[in-house]
Amino acid sequence: MENQRESPLQQRKKRRVILFPLPLQGHINPMLQLANILYGKGLSITVIHTNFNSPNTSNYPHFDFCSIPDGLLEVGASTSDVIALVTLLNVNCVVPFRDCLAKLLSNVEEESIACLITDAVCHFTQAVADSLKLPRIVLRTSSISSFLAFAAISLLHEKGFFPIKGFHFLSDLGSEAPMPEFPSVRVKDIPLIETRDAEKFYQLLMSMMSQIKASSGLIWNSFQDLEQDALPALERDFRIPIFPIGAFHKYFPASSSSLLTQDKSSISWLDKQAPKSVLYVSFGSIAAVNEAEFLEIAWGLANSGVPFLWVVRPGLVRGFEWLEPLPKGFLEMLDGRAHIVKWAPQQEVLAHPATGGFWTHNGWNSTLESICEGVPMICQPCFGDQLVIARYVSHIWRVGLHLEKRLERGEIETAIRRVILEAEGQEMRDRIMQLKEKVDVSLRQGGSSYQSLESLISYIESF
Ligand code: UDP
Repeated sequence: MENQRESPLQQRKKRRVILFPLPLQGHINPMLQLANILYGKGLSITVIHTNFNSPNTSNYPHFDFCSIPDGLLEVGASTSDVIALVTLLNVNCVVPFRDCLAKLLSNVEEESIACLITDAVCHFTQAVADSLKLPRIVLRTSSISSFLAFAAISLLHEKGFFPIKGFHFLSDLGSEAPMPEFPSVRVKDIPLIETRDAEKFYQLLMSMMSQIKASSGLIWNSFQDLEQDALPALERDFRIPIFPIGAFHKYFPASSSSLLTQDKSSISWLDKQAPKSVLYVSFGSIAAVNEAEFLEIAWGLANSGVPFLWVVRPGLVRGFEWLEPLPKGFLEMLDGRAHIVKWAPQQEVLAHPATGGFWTHNGWNSTLESICEGVPMICQPCFGDQLVIARYVSHIWRVGLHLEKRLERGEIETAIRRVILEAEGQEMRDRIMQLKEKVDVSLRQGGSSYQSLESLISYIESF
């Protein structure tokens, strides 16, 4: 009788999902955004998280959080070798994660746990979920097209080209040649990541791929219109339900899962600048440069004559705390034309009317956030999927300029002027505005992301 008085929404509240992000900024953000989306659809949320890069739980009073001991800091793991970090996480977390999940499953009273949603990179969670008979859905936090390039690497690996034979084979082809198995990108765009032990990278990739195939579904922070070619290929190779429901951050106001404090002076400074006049510069939470590169960037920005808002994250310049390598009087010389912060409220910056371009490392979140605000890009990919994303931005969607040569102040100055001041930049802006319109349509009732989210919710409730 009790149930008859409940609305469908109240009945839905009785299902809970358990989420487990990879503890890196570019992975925490979309996972917590997804949690907010699912909560908005009536599901209860528990987030299991590591102590390493633990999220700021006070920003999410509507979620439950459980932390697990990961032992990562104790062994000196850091984001300077992401592959080593992630490989270790996939070993260290198995027991504490299983214990935590088993406890949550045994504690359930009124609500029933529908499924687990974990980052694709945390491949160990599939075996844990299987052992506890809980369905696992995967969130992949990059673009579908760059994921297919990773899948192509694993094909090359299966054929014996990697790690050693592959480098010879591929360099024989020439760096401008199309990548075998994935001709949309060139050999030089192959999404490699530097690590102490190259074989670990391929092992990680293979485990990620096989455990995605073993999962109950795959969620994407991307949208159908952007990935028209990639989606059919993905559906052919991965025969599990696929849900492109992005862009996540557009479902609600700016999110607050930042590990660093966002400097709000970015916005008050932007308020004083002319429309579309400012270049926003940020290379995300992991990429680093050396001192010489940093100085080329600084002089390229200064010599361009364009106003700029520059995120210099502590640790961005290897071997330095923060701005020490800048010449004395650098900022004073620019006389208010520049503003430097340690970390910015990026989504607000990109949405600000004064922002005219984004010099980015092409992390997927940054790229998607730029697309969602119609801001053309200068692409400075550093590693992994960023190389493929930069190729798509510059040559397939044609909404950015790829800085391919080594960092040099003259090249930088020219690129900035082309994007902010010249007709070419305006053409890129027109094209990216069309993509912005497409993402807006996809999120409205009846749009592709909207429908895909409805299917995801029904799917979760069917468990
Ligand atoms: N970000 C931010 N403030 C900054 C720079 C970045 O809030 O000053 C956010 C940005 O909005 C994005 C995330 O950090 O959501 C970076 O993710 P991305 O995938 O672009 O790059 P990663 O940090 O993983 O290399």
